[in-house]
Amino acid sequence: MPVIEEVAKVSFERVGMHSHIRGLGLDENGKAKFMADGMVGQVKAREAAGIAVELIKRGKLAGKGILLVGPTGSGKTAIAMGIARELGEDVPFVQMAGSEIYSAEVKKTEFLKQALRRAIGVRISEERKVYEGEVKEIEVRKTRHPFNPYVEIPESVIITLRTKDDEKTIRAGREIAYQLLELGVEEGDVIQIDAETGRISKLGTVKEEEGLFFKRRVNLPSGPVLKIKEFTYTITLHDLDVANARGNIFGLLFSSGAEISDEIREKVDEMVKKWIEDGKATLVPGVLFIDEVHMLDIEAFSFLARAMESELAPILILATNRGRTKIRGTDIEAPHGIPIDMLDRLLIINTEPYKRDEIREIVKIRAREEKIDISEEAIEYLAELGEETSLRYAVQLLAPASVIAKGGKVEREHVEKAKEYFADLRRSIEFVETLEGMLK
Ligand code: ATP
Repeated sequence: MPVIEEVAKVSFERVGMHSHIRGLGLDENGKAKFMADGMVGQVKAREAAGIAVELIKRGKLAGKGILLVGPTGSGKTAIAMGIARELGEDVPFVQMAGSEIYSAEVKKTEFLKQALRRAIGVRISEERKVYEGEVKEIEVRKTRHPFNPYVEIPESVIITLRTKDDEKTIRAGREIAYQLLELGVEEGDVIQIDAETGRISKLGTVKEEEGLFFKRRVNLPSGPVLKIKEFTYTITLHDLDVANARGNIFGLLFSSGAEISDEIREKVDEMVKKWIEDGKATLVPGVLFIDEVHMLDIEAFSFLARAMESELAPILILATNRGRTKIRGTDIEAPHGIPIDMLDRLLIINTEPYKRDEIREIVKIRAREEKIDISEEAIEYLAELGEETSLRYAVQLLAPASVIAKGGKVEREHVEKAKEYFADLRRSIEFVETLEGMLK
């Protein structure tokens, strides 16, 4: 598998942990509600983030970025995600850690280029001709398998679709017949067939629900069966790069794990520009979130500074838990390990460690999100543990506690067991240090 695809996986899988976050949870005056949009507490930082969102919307953050500074597990990622969600549902959110640029098998700057281009969406609107309606009649014609006369295979299909106002009978070949069988389309289902590509999607059923399987009930469509519909979808510049790299001679290089060439990127940019000019697409700048930003080196910082100037730049949100430290690749000490010219471009927001009330509510939200039934007492105990150790540890114990409870209701004793099995960071450090002490 090409290296670049694995990178994609790394960046997207982790988002699941923050799946409950739907925004920053602010009221119309920009004040944070204690709990809203899946967000809890961290009031000052969320309000600051809300102002940043306003600036972004007004185009006043162009060429600049945001720096979130606070201890590990104080909700920096959660807030960055909240910012992306505030900007729009289809706004890309890409998450990476500064250290990742070294572990990948691609060059540091190539890694960053890909991350930047993943964080820019292209919203494409397309008009397509589709057949849409309720399946009134369907007849799949079969023929004998060419090598096995005992087996019958679909050959063609005659299908009658109807709407409130129209009815049409379509005859189609094997491809469509197979799709209809695979989807289990039957009379009463409402389907859509792309007139050009022949792709079929099931929209629901107009019939009363029957049998075991749930089908979405829909109304009988109106208008003509064959009509023009507008479809809107968002893909990223990186998706387009990959598709283009595969589609021509450069694709050969690409599939051997090499980087995407700048020629391909330029070609994609031109193509997208043309779509925009023709009114077929709009750009959707997303958020690139780089955690542990102090792990980036001077080269990476200057690359990012240049990228921020470009007209195709996503919103950059950096995060760190370090105070003064050396800029990697130099002997220079700087605030947060970030070069001054980069710091100059950043709005800094601080996040504070969570208090018990906040932890309790976040644990509840996560339990609901992970569909874990849990008693009040167990939640209280997790809140207490979270305050002593970290929010992350408390949240992480939910899943193992649920396993220990054999999928049943999680009680305090299950959390206690989970705590015995899995260490928090402080405990695990103490463990190693004690061992080292014993060996001295
Ligand atoms: P950081 O990026 O500062 O290390 P984080 O955002 O990754 O912190 P964790 O401590 O890892 O936070 O978060 C544990 C869980 O709590 C995650 O599911 C995260 O989305 C959630 N979470 C963190 N802060 C908040 C918040 N203020 N409101 C709601 N959920 C939160």
